Amino acid sequence: MIEETISKESAICPHCGYEHIDIWEVFDGASNGEIKEIDCPSCGKVYICEIDTTPTYYTKPKEE
Ligand SMILES: [Zn+2]
Repeated sequence: MIEETISKESAICPHCGYEHIDIWEVFDGASNGEIKEIDCPSCGKVYICEIDTTPTYYTKPKEE
């Protein structure tokens, strides 16, 4: 069963759910939308990981 996963903190293996917390090392210096093949250290299967480096800005009015 393959599901798409999304996480801010780490890449999650869509095969087994392993959290690849060192994924930033793989994407170090990568640009937005860059896609890499990741070998899951847990189940040994390959999955596709796409990075979204778009920053998120949350704003609200300053209270007077
Ligand atoms: Zn896995």
